[in-house]
Amino acid sequence: MLFGRKSKEKEKKQTPPAGEGKAPSAVAPKPPQPKAPGESQKVVSTIKEEGDRILERKVAESVATQLEEAGLVKKASGPATSGEEAGQTVETTAAAKEGYTTEEDMLQLLSEQIGMPYVRVDDYEVDQELVSNVPGSVARMYRVFPLEKNSDGSVLMAMVDPLNVHTLDDLSLLLNCSVSGAIANESDIMDLIDEFYGGTDESVDEMLESLAEDEFSLSIDEANFDDLERIANEAPIIKLVNLILLQAIKDRASDLHVEPFQNSFRIRYRVDGTLHETVPPPKHLQLAIISRLKVMANMNIAERRLPQDGRIKLSMSDREIDLRVSSLPTVNGESIVMRILDKNMMMIGLEQIGMMPQDLEVFEKIIRKPHGIILVTGPTGCGKTTTLYASLQKIYSPMLKMITTENPVEYQLEGVIQVNIRERVGLTFAACLRSILRQDPDIIMVGEIRDLETASIAIEAALTGHLVLSTLHTNDAPGAITRLIDMNVEPFLITSTIEGVIAQRLVRTICTGCRETYDPPEELLIDLGITSDMTKGVTFYQGKGCVDCNYTGYRGRIGIFETLTISEGIRELILDRSPTSVIRRQARKEGMRTMREDGWEKIVRGITTLEEILRETQ
Ligand SMILES: [Zn+2]
Repeated sequence: MLFGRKSKEKEKKQTPPAGEGKAPSAVAPKPPQPKAPGESQKVVSTIKEEGDRILERKVAESVATQLEEAGLVKKASGPATSGEEAGQTVETTAAAKEGYTTEEDMLQLLSEQIGMPYVRVDDYEVDQELVSNVPGSVARMYRVFPLEKNSDGSVLMAMVDPLNVHTLDDLSLLLNCSVSGAIANESDIMDLIDEFYGGTDESVDEMLESLAEDEFSLSIDEANFDDLERIANEAPIIKLVNLILLQAIKDRASDLHVEPFQNSFRIRYRVDGTLHETVPPPKHLQLAIISRLKVMANMNIAERRLPQDGRIKLSMSDREIDLRVSSLPTVNGESIVMRILDKNMMMIGLEQIGMMPQDLEVFEKIIRKPHGIILVTGPTGCGKTTTLYASLQKIYSPMLKMITTENPVEYQLEGVIQVNIRERVGLTFAACLRSILRQDPDIIMVGEIRDLETASIAIEAALTGHLVLSTLHTNDAPGAITRLIDMNVEPFLITSTIEGVIAQRLVRTICTGCRETYDPPEELLIDLGITSDMTKGVTFYQGKGCVDCNYTGYRGRIGIFETLTISEGIRELILDRSPTSVIRRQARKEGMRTMREDGWEKIVRGITTLEEILRETQ
């Protein structure tokens, strides 16, 4: 682990993680762009980015067509995900693997298309001095290897991902010289990196040590725009921030918090729902790190008194990662929080989110209804959006029109129309939903039902033949019914539209690297309501803690669910405006498995622990 947690740091350094041989390395932060305060600049850079993206896609398409015409590859069938469109390298290797042609042919064609030379790294003699001038962390991060220094001082770099337009810009900034690229075989480049930079990266800690001088410090009160711009584009700062982001992603963090205090500066990651503190960077780097993050997120770096929102897009080998960035001015300077959205993590099916066969069967039946309302409930961060996305994917068909309205759109789904909520300009869920209904949809996903207005339009939509998927903030499934009644929705409208409610929580799963059997304490079983005859023949597991799980004993999370369907008995109780507890009792009588029961099944299967289920179902 490169980014040592405060406590276990020593231990980790002595035992390098085994599973981390191949570091995800093609982090492609946006290049620092000419900045001027104000909106117009933002628009310009967005347009530039869009232009870059279009260019990438055009090149990819054109190469694909050329390959196809040359009879080298067959056109890919099946729906392409948005990530694959620009994924030139992915396509070339995939086609090569299928034996249509050699990777070399592909790279040569690509070289002709984008006008970058194709080289064989064997033809170059490795220049040790040049290698030592390019830090290993940079080589790994961008997946490049320096080949030679030209007479004009520029460096020729072999690149795994030549279509990434930002890499060369970033490298020139980092190395402080002009850099040109050459296409080369991926495994050759990676072998060279392993051979000449060894298996270890420069860690954030080491990086911090080299930044110990006050070089990049600025007085928080006096810094002007030019100062901020300068420190944000200093090579060591770029590198440090890239490393921090890379490490957060490697550690599977869902959020990254950058927090200023009066005498300290703190960085924390949230992994599997729990915050972990990292070795704090020196206080004097605060302004530089925060300005760098704001540059990357396309925020106005001169504005430090108002909250701002931004986005950072990174692509790491085969993964696309989106960071939603928000800044908040505090008494000690700006605090930055980044939500890390990993498309691969979001795009998982209903089976992978942890629905057991019996729940899955009921849930699939509900989402295949032609109309009605399906609600997913639970607190913030319990995976509701992932469940909705998984549902949309399950029922996706080109014969159906699907529209979503979200706050904000977390991931773009191929073939689905998605709309961002903008409350500031009056585009609320209710307003958006009303417009969506005029767009002839079949299936609508509404990010959240928060008020009577949104609830009423959702009901109207369901009554007029649409399937509506949405979320509510309630503790359990029966609670959703009472919540709607509290919003003043008429009970008969609820019974005639709601098809099902699913409540969920996320629990951490036991790390498979260090799972061991153990005898749980008696009290824990009693607290969970587990009787002695239930534990007969059950083996309990826990994670001992290992390098893979950062000594937490847990790695990854899974959902626990309870699914409420509206039976005749429940319908009557709703019409009588019965309280949650009564609806709940009836549902249990009719066989609804509670989240805790679902959790118990996952304990028995050795997936999670008693502690996790107890914590999430209290
Ligand atoms: Zn472990």
